[in-house]
Amino acid sequence: MMPELDKPHEECGVFGVAANHAQAARQAYFGIFALQHRGQEAAGIAVSDGARLRLHKDVGLVSQVFDEGIIAGLQGHMAIGHTRYSTTGSATAPNAQPMLLDTRHGPVALAHNGNLTNAAQLRQRLMEQGVGFTSTSDTQVMIMMLAASDGGSWMDRITATMAKWQGAYSIVVLTNEGVYAARDPWGLRPLTVGSLPGGGHAAASETGALETIGCDGVREVHPGEVIALHREALIVRQALEPDLRLARCTFEHIYFSRPDSVWDGRVVHDVRYRLGQQLAREMPVEADVVVPVPDSSIPSGLGYSAESGIRFDIGLVKNRYIGRTFIQPSHEMRVQGVALKFNPMPSVLGGQRVVLIDDSIVRGTTMRHLVGMLRGAGAVEAHVRVTCPPIRHPCFMGVDMSTYDELIAHKMSVEEMRISLDADTLHFVSLEGMMTAIGREQGYCNACFTGQYPFEIPETAGKFSLEPMGEGRV
Ligand code: SF4
Repeated sequence: MMPELDKPHEECGVFGVAANHAQAARQAYFGIFALQHRGQEAAGIAVSDGARLRLHKDVGLVSQVFDEGIIAGLQGHMAIGHTRYSTTGSATAPNAQPMLLDTRHGPVALAHNGNLTNAAQLRQRLMEQGVGFTSTSDTQVMIMMLAASDGGSWMDRITATMAKWQGAYSIVVLTNEGVYAARDPWGLRPLTVGSLPGGGHAAASETGALETIGCDGVREVHPGEVIALHREALIVRQALEPDLRLARCTFEHIYFSRPDSVWDGRVVHDVRYRLGQQLAREMPVEADVVVPVPDSSIPSGLGYSAESGIRFDIGLVKNRYIGRTFIQPSHEMRVQGVALKFNPMPSVLGGQRVVLIDDSIVRGTTMRHLVGMLRGAGAVEAHVRVTCPPIRHPCFMGVDMSTYDELIAHKMSVEEMRISLDADTLHFVSLEGMMTAIGREQGYCNACFTGQYPFEIPETAGKFSLEPMGEGRV
């Protein structure tokens, strides 16, 4: 188990494809490989040849779970895939996705990115009807509901079931009849579709994954939409009206998405660059060098540097081979994680007044050690600038910050945080400034900054709300 940084964890990555050849699983492999940053705990691919569904999944990275022999054995022209980070339920093999179920309508497989906030109530209702569960994942609740749903087609059954779900869900569904992609009416998590070169269609959490396999005509699955992917065409249905309070997750821009992905019509790299510029305008400081926390803060560092005229340099080097891997429950392990992930560059930092740019602060553990690292390498001042506002509230929609206790900004004022982090100055971009950089006034969730959730959050919502007695986090 590798140590992890003090960052919000990605949700998950989903991928679906209807191809005009029997190697859909190979395309799904490349698709989820391109989404690896969204979840490193488990990976899986389900494939159908129109008569039979096959599934392979396990804990580990995509490259660890699949090899050439496994992919060659997954024959079929339709496939879905998943990379998992455990937002609901712990990181155990039964919670890996896609989940596969035999139903009276034939087999169905489902992969999910997000978190249902009413999963505990839905699960309880099913259990009262005699349904049993083998996992603690909300995805099993979803697939059980799909199986029990009435309707003449899978499109109808997905439509009927979506109306009962509250929360974040971008899903791909595979049956012997087709591949389907659907997104919640608040638009919380991303989901996109595109056309494959040479025929066929694919869906993926991020546009970057569709680009990887050469798709064109890429567009979002709109909030509340269900799309059936066929080789020849996309069949689109507006299953639910988009909610008036559209609530895209701001963290896709700030941290989660690949910089080359497009979210809400904006290239993520460009938004991060503008966030850096905005920070420089809101919180200027006299300094010698702008240093980003690699990799996600590099565009913001460039933006801060361009706006302020302070030179940009790489003062921290990241070991890219450690990866964003497993959760670390202990403080000590997180401390070790920082030491393993970053090394300072004394030749860049020595004798310098440093502006350190980071995308977010959750617990504060990583930042405290990075500031110590700068000082240890000879920096004479450390000015910390953060490209999102203080995170003061938990997320119940699929991002792993589900308790107030873990959030340093919930427990401390900015000045108390500055002292705790041992920074000379500490500033977060304003909410208005962040939205200016995104280029929207509304349509985003922002609940982790404001406490204003897009819908009522049941008391039972939270990552381990489905955890049975005796089972815990691994
Ligand atoms: S609360 Fe924050 S992390 Fe969660 S969905 Fe909303 S913006 Fe994203």
